[in-house]
Amino acid sequence: MGIQLHLYIAPFKGVSMLKPYLISTLSGVSYPFQRLEEFAENGESLEVVIPNIEHAKLRQTQGIAAASMVVGASICQRYADFLPFQEMHPELSLGEGMTALVPAGAKLSAWTGLENLLLKNETINPTWSFKDRGSLACTIMAIEQKERAMATISTGNMGQSVAAYGARAGLKVMVFLPEFAPKEKILAMAIHGATVVRVHGADYGDMKDMVIELASKHGVRVASGNNPIRVEGYKTEAFELFEQLDGEVPDYIAVPTSACGHIRGIFKGFRELHQAGLIDRLPKMIVVQAATNSPIASAIKSGSRTMIPFRNFTTIAEALSSGRPPGGEEIIAKAYKYGWLAEDAAEEEILEAQNQLACAGFFVEPASATTLAALRKLYSSRTIDAKARVVAVLTGSGLKDIGVASRHKLDIVDTDMNGIEQYISAEKL
Ligand SMILES: *Cc1c(COP(=O)(O)O)cnc(C)c1O
Repeated sequence: MGIQLHLYIAPFKGVSMLKPYLISTLSGVSYPFQRLEEFAENGESLEVVIPNIEHAKLRQTQGIAAASMVVGASICQRYADFLPFQEMHPELSLGEGMTALVPAGAKLSAWTGLENLLLKNETINPTWSFKDRGSLACTIMAIEQKERAMATISTGNMGQSVAAYGARAGLKVMVFLPEFAPKEKILAMAIHGATVVRVHGADYGDMKDMVIELASKHGVRVASGNNPIRVEGYKTEAFELFEQLDGEVPDYIAVPTSACGHIRGIFKGFRELHQAGLIDRLPKMIVVQAATNSPIASAIKSGSRTMIPFRNFTTIAEALSSGRPPGGEEIIAKAYKYGWLAEDAAEEEILEAQNQLACAGFFVEPASATTLAALRKLYSSRTIDAKARVVAVLTGSGLKDIGVASRHKLDIVDTDMNGIEQYISAEKL
């Protein structure tokens, strides 16, 4: 049986052991850090190996609030020992990260059954999703490699984020989008000056394959959601959680998963904290997907070692639209190796969770609400104990997809001046 994770093979010739390099995540083949293609030749995802990670230190482990007040201190500077760049380029930061970790509160705890539920609120990033962490990393990479442009494939949030960071850095940005991307996200990337290419009449997975193939042919660096450099940025979420929980490791972290970069980034951060001797155990990740498109969650739930491909599906969680995420097998292998969980959420369950979150003060986009629906199911099936310390990541803001409002019952009334008084009356208040 089996795939061996992180099998060690000496780096290819000519690369110093002290410089970062890339390694394929299942078969352990190494590649230069500068590699243009973001996957290995055999299609496996790649990850960065940071030399001397055992000696890495977190620069400021106390006083998050104080540190975030330091003008120009970016997440990359804070966690520099764990990152593969020569310089951390604070001038490229838009102030991402340092997001709040908030107790979910009594209502959401009652709804999910989980007494120690925490929400990592990534909606307060500069472009209102966690993608900004990865975009900062990719921008530093582009500047270090002296590239003039960044290109990406996105259903919206990554394009918007790359557009903003490209504008900040003075790089040209090109975004390839499927036609179902919400107009709020399209407007937001175009206003930063990006060239937005909307591709009609194609399955998103097919479109992704084609862009990746053409990019390689033309020698253009395209960063999709599972890019190894993006993953380096996403790691910073793990470091923040470690600091916010005073060095304790959560039992579970629930992550809405599409291209898979985010979930593996958070986990890689914890693995590296472990390698650096700062923690003595790893959290269990929970892979959450929409039931109508669950290539990874269904595989894990059914005990399959390969993805179950989805095509031509629809889901209100449009940020979770990878039907065949390239490199996704790594996540399945990790799930078995580390005892991760997987759960899905049906369309109605996603809407209900979005409503529950909003009624508790958190307006998130549907993709982000999937985790809450999944956690409720995992508690009901007694897979997760009521007392477990669980973090759910709120990945993106609700304002990114206003169209979904029509699916909720909202208490909005219209009146003329004469009608105002009846709403001020005692029984209404
Ligand atoms: C991108 C995105 C996801 C999925 O993250 P992946 O890294 O593609 O797995 C989840 N939620 C939101 C809001 C996103 O923008």
